[in-house]
Amino acid sequence: MTSNVAFFAEFAAGSPARSALELAAGAAELASQSGGSAIGLAYGAGAAEGAAALGASGAARVIVLGDENRPAITYAAAATAAVRDAVALAVLAPATPNGRDLAAALVGSLNLPAFGPVRAARVSAGILETEQATLQGRVITTARPADGAPEPSVVLVLANTFTPIEGGSGSAEVTHAPAAEDSPFGLATIAESHEAEAKVVNLEEATVIVAGGRGVGGEEGFGPLRDLAAELGGAVGASRAAADAGWIPYQLQIGQTGKVVKPSLYIAAGISGAIQHRVGMQSAEHVIAINRDADAPIGEFADLFVVGDLFQIVPALTEEIRRRKGA
Ligand SMILES: Cc1cc2nc3c(=O)[nH]c(=O)nc-3n(C[C@H](O)[C@H](O)[C@H](O)COP(=O)(O)OP(=O)(O)OC[C@H]3O[C@@H](n4cnc5c(N)ncnc54)[C@H](O)[C@@H]3O)c2cc1C
Repeated sequence: MTSNVAFFAEFAAGSPARSALELAAGAAELASQSGGSAIGLAYGAGAAEGAAALGASGAARVIVLGDENRPAITYAAAATAAVRDAVALAVLAPATPNGRDLAAALVGSLNLPAFGPVRAARVSAGILETEQATLQGRVITTARPADGAPEPSVVLVLANTFTPIEGGSGSAEVTHAPAAEDSPFGLATIAESHEAEAKVVNLEEATVIVAGGRGVGGEEGFGPLRDLAAELGGAVGASRAAADAGWIPYQLQIGQTGKVVKPSLYIAAGISGAIQHRVGMQSAEHVIAINRDADAPIGEFADLFVVGDLFQIVPALTEEIRRRKGA
């Protein structure tokens, strides 16, 4: 019975991704339940330099798989070797394209049990248990490794499942993975990368989201929502109806086929609250809904339901916030 919990930590320009900090906290939590330690598997530009600092986020040890700006999948061979040696109960990978690639490579190379994407995980009596939402969030499934399954289990973890540790201290013990032998995972290199021109707001990291639906009526209808989001330091999101209409990019869609978000405040304007939207935002701490239909389903789960025209209420709210800020 092994008890360490490993996690992938992606780096860019010397800093860990938000997912790395979330998974470090998650691995530390699970390791404390299983009596082991959290072990980071760090890769990406600046990983070697930033690895020790993951100690303040929950890692006891970090294995640097490599610290070049390379496609994540090219780290799969090093990850496989490190996981084979790490003696862990579980390996947590973020449910991102890179995390999915690495998780799939581990599962395939080492024939390990796979879970996820999960929205909760724990270790109970030494056994890993994961929780996954299925059937549009109506059914929550708990899964654990089958008897006799090899360790570790590979667990894809949704964004915002764990909260990064703030104000932690200490540094992790850092080791470097040996250079991988010939890898079946390709030798691609990145020729060039630069910041995207249009700033893409990472909805999964936003603490305030102002989301619009079909009720905003068009592309320009998002203007007042953007103003409100700017005053609150938040991001703009959307329902699928608004994204399907081409009023806003699909990457800002929230819900079953969009992003899963967990802000402290979610303001839904002109969104009816269909189950497929709800599964993407139901973990928000506070929900304010603005809808002119008093019977809209979103009223059933909003903390504050404002019945009225969003084109009157949203600008008035923005104005009031500006007035109070100026006071
Ligand atoms: C397989 C599948 C996957 C899906 N995935 C997603 C997903 O990821 N995300 C998602 O959002 N949906 C998803 N959907 C679609 C979902 O079922 C709903 O159709 C969609 O969420 C509706 O979007 P809406 O609330 O913006 O539009 P509507 O349901 O049309 O609601 C618009 C609301 O705006 C209100 N309104 C109109 N004008 C105003 C105004 N001036 N002021 C205030 N309120 C106003 C109306 O009263 C109404 O309640 C999916 C559906 C399927 C079948």
